[in-house]
Amino acid sequence: MRKIAVILTLLAAIFFGGIFYFYKTLQVKVDIQPEKTVWGEKNEITLKVDSNHNFPIGQVEVSLTQGSKKIELYKGPIENVETSLVIDAKKARLKEGKAKIEAYLELPLEKKLLLEREIRFDLTPPQVSIVLKPHRLGIGEPGVVEVSVNEPTSQLYVEVGKYNFPLLPVAGSPNLYKTFIAAPLSLLKEPSDYFVVATDEAGNTSKVFLPIDIRAKKFRHVKIFLTEKQLKDIVYKFFPEATDLVEKFHIINHQFRQEDDQKITEICSLSTNELYAQGKFLQLPGSAPTAYFGDHRYYYYNGKQIDTSIHKGLDLAKYKHAPVVAANNGRVIYVGHLKIYGNVVLIDHGYGLVTLYGHLLDSTVKVGQVVKKGQIIGHTDTTGLALGDHLHFGTLIWGVATNPIYYFDPRYMDYYIYKYFKTNQ
Ligand SMILES: [Zn+2]
Repeated sequence: MRKIAVILTLLAAIFFGGIFYFYKTLQVKVDIQPEKTVWGEKNEITLKVDSNHNFPIGQVEVSLTQGSKKIELYKGPIENVETSLVIDAKKARLKEGKAKIEAYLELPLEKKLLLEREIRFDLTPPQVSIVLKPHRLGIGEPGVVEVSVNEPTSQLYVEVGKYNFPLLPVAGSPNLYKTFIAAPLSLLKEPSDYFVVATDEAGNTSKVFLPIDIRAKKFRHVKIFLTEKQLKDIVYKFFPEATDLVEKFHIINHQFRQEDDQKITEICSLSTNELYAQGKFLQLPGSAPTAYFGDHRYYYYNGKQIDTSIHKGLDLAKYKHAPVVAANNGRVIYVGHLKIYGNVVLIDHGYGLVTLYGHLLDSTVKVGQVVKKGQIIGHTDTTGLALGDHLHFGTLIWGVATNPIYYFDPRYMDYYIYKYFKTNQ
């Protein structure tokens, strides 16, 4: 009997000793991500309990309190837990204002505070007022939009169809934001309305209708008859072993064009709120246009129409390897190679307005370099998808192609563009 008592005592000592050891070394952490202090209407969070032992006694409790209202976010055993929660302020009947998140470790003899976070519920979407917008735009025409917003935003842009034009803060004017917008060529086929979309730091979004009257424009219809040599010149550049010329031409003309457009949009997102442009833009001096913005191109081969495309810039021909100049003051944001446009230089003129110089032989400028109107930036060639030596000149607004002719007209630029930058720029 004494032996059993000794064994039992020993076992009890090991058991309680173990518990005591685990208790003494127990480390529990609670984390809630994202670590934001301003919460909106819907809040997706990840709650994590990190414990170095699965401790059998006690529990972890995480709650959100506002006034007398208490919402339990987690109540359970002391172990490693990771859970995703959506806190819907309206459903939970939480109000705008302060709230608190607390996490406690509850043990038989003590209650430890693990996490305490003061938060604030902001359930009011940002208020957007339209300060300035064009009344009407022709397809391919640029315009200026200015808005004021009553609180800081995480996202703020003008939207039309699938395109976004980010609104940038106007230096020295708090709450004021400005940008260039455009009437994309795609509106010809898919009419869409313009909206200003503003999301505050809590995630509340407002969408304000921006009435702009879109005017259709007539564009040229151009038939391009490709010879076998021309087709091979183009296709072999990309697919040296190709046998199915027409099929490969289609890939180049569509898939590659789309890839270029996407890359161009990414590059244009580097534009800043510094308006570099002054006065009219230069059309490459001494050059003659060979293709215009909006040209609807119909490609023929062996008497059959094999493809179509819409031209998104102005083609300017001079002589072989002619010097290319910056159309206006700006900052070089890209020097590199694209599939369709070949060797390119892109120059930011501010608030999303970027000029593109395509099919270049070389470039004489570097990314980040500030250039002056008329400064040589490279030379013409036939790199990319080009049938003869020429400059493809593009005027882009946040990547959306616009018609260069507007920018060459000093009166147009003063009256419709620069006037709106004078008051607070
Ligand atoms: Zn072109």
